Amino acid sequence: MPPAPDQSSNSGSISLSDTSDRPFELMEVIEISRSEIEVVCDMERVVCDRDGAVAILDRVPTDDGPMPTLPRDQRIVITIDGPAGTGKSSVARSLAKALGLDFLDTGAMYRAAAALAIDHGVASTDAEGVVRETTAADLHFDWTKDPPTILAFGKPIDHRIRAADVAEIVSPIATIKSLREHMVRKQRIIAQQHPRLVTEGRDQGSIVFPDAAVKFYLDASPDVRARRRAEQLMASGHCADLGAITSEILDRDKRDSSRADGPLICPKDAICVDTSDLAFDQVVKTLHRHVLAVVGR
Ligand code: C5P
Repeated sequence: MPPAPDQSSNSGSISLSDTSDRPFELMEVIEISRSEIEVVCDMERVVCDRDGAVAILDRVPTDDGPMPTLPRDQRIVITIDGPAGTGKSSVARSLAKALGLDFLDTGAMYRAAAALAIDHGVASTDAEGVVRETTAADLHFDWTKDPPTILAFGKPIDHRIRAADVAEIVSPIATIKSLREHMVRKQRIIAQQHPRLVTEGRDQGSIVFPDAAVKFYLDASPDVRARRRAEQLMASGHCADLGAITSEILDRDKRDSSRADGPLICPKDAICVDTSDLAFDQVVKTLHRHVLAVVGR
């Protein structure tokens, strides 16, 4: 018999009585009325209800073997969007590696534009100046490196784009309409040159690649995202002030979601994954499984 939803607790969270040692992961919570509830229990998926909320839980895959790559002749664009600190970059990079695809970090391009503005004395409000500098720098990636490094004026600037002064102005800079148009054009050219691509950012599934074969939207609670950012910073030898990081993240979320051009949204045909309670490997495996399901493997 498949495990039955455990209805014994009155708390809002949903738990399962389960004799298997394979855990479940929460895939989705949807609101429907009790009369509409269909409880589907099989060995891989359980839908259980609590007061009108329905949670869809999938078995975490137990296969720890190698994750299959996609055939070499398969052209595919996979987009991953979401707010800061959801682990998009690391997840996108790992997913690309597992599937045998290239990986594009579009945040690096906006960060590069911000770094160029600062280093060339252009105000972040000077839209024309920012676009002029960015265009002159001929931003592109060195694809022989893993992950690809970003170059401006032919020189790597990876070391520069993660600095605090860049983080402070990247989001206002990313509201510049003509800069976004420039980046969208560049990203589409990159996809023509790298037609097997996992690309991550804010507008990849919504604006840049609306016809992408698979779209993901990663989310996590602000606390979790701030903690992850702090851990990343500390791991790279920087100091981390959790309070300051949290307010920077919330600030960026607000700007990124409310701008007129290419705002951060969850595309309606995207698979949304809340990574708050998932380990990194679980996220990558979940996405990997979805991609294989979509491409019919
Ligand atoms: O992903 P990352 O934190 O490196 O992105 C930095 C900033 O670049 C984001 O906060 C956002 O303002 C901007 N961005 C964007 N569109 C993208 C990628 C990043 O506006 N596709």
